Amino acid sequence: MPKKLTGTVALVTGASSGIGEATAMALAEDGATVALVARRRDKLEALAEKLGGSGHALVIEADVSDAEQAKAAVDATVKELGRLDTLVNNAGVMLLGPIVDAPLEEWQRMVNLNVLGLLYCTHAALPHLIAAAEGDPRQVADVVNISSTAGRVARLNSGVYNATKFGVVAFSESLRQEVTTRHVRVSIIEPGATATELAFHNRPVILEEMAKTFGGIEIMQSEDVARAIHYVVTQPRHVTINEVLMRPTEQER
Ligand code: NDP
Repeated sequence: MPKKLTGTVALVTGASSGIGEATAMALAEDGATVALVARRRDKLEALAEKLGGSGHALVIEADVSDAEQAKAAVDATVKELGRLDTLVNNAGVMLLGPIVDAPLEEWQRMVNLNVLGLLYCTHAALPHLIAAAEGDPRQVADVVNISSTAGRVARLNSGVYNATKFGVVAFSESLRQEVTTRHVRVSIIEPGATATELAFHNRPVILEEMAKTFGGIEIMQSEDVARAIHYVVTQPRHVTINEVLMRPTEQER
């Protein structure tokens, strides 16, 4: 079967682990050349090797919560790979716990990455995505923003993470209305619990609480979410999947 993403370039933030890594693999398997963006260069290099080396993947070490580094990552992608068709804004952090007496540093990290990092990458990428949508091979381009079930349902001890992911949903819908007639599709992915490194950045006391909620259920794998992202970006030009809300079957809320 012909590959659907041949001739296209995707940039995936947070490609060094979890959902981002699985997404980079899924897009590359279907023919995309992928710019792999995150802070851990060694992990990105290992993934690039798996994807077949320099003709298939570009390693870009960047902290996307820094506006200049986010723009430099997009610019390097276009300079080295010639274009940008697909932006997957995936990099994120989830630091849970009560709002009372929360460490402000945790809130700053979440807002800086989950919201500002996504905005910086999108801002830098849009002119290139609009240009890609005006030409071959697909005449369409994609922004895929990774929100969460936490972007749809607020939960006790998740207030600031909820705020960032609700923010991603609101921004995405506004952007969609702005650029959809130019054939830049904007999609939101809202996964439930998925087995990645995400939870392990929390304080030990929070991890214990999380184990009580999710310990007994069969959660999703990164590949499950990557499959949804691949589905979204391989639709025909006239179809946009606006939103994918997906949970492990046993997750109630
Ligand atoms: P991981 O912790 O495995 O991946 C997070 C990725 O973000 C890593 O590649 C990390 O790489 C990267 N990252 C972190 N900080 C920065 C930064 N400042 N600049 C660039 N990259 C950064 O978690 P997931 O794969 O689970 O998370 C991916 C997305 O999915 C997040 O937005 C998360 O909120 C969302 N999500 C996850 C769910 C889950 O249950 N796992 C459920 C719902 C949504 P590095 O450290 O090398 O920079």
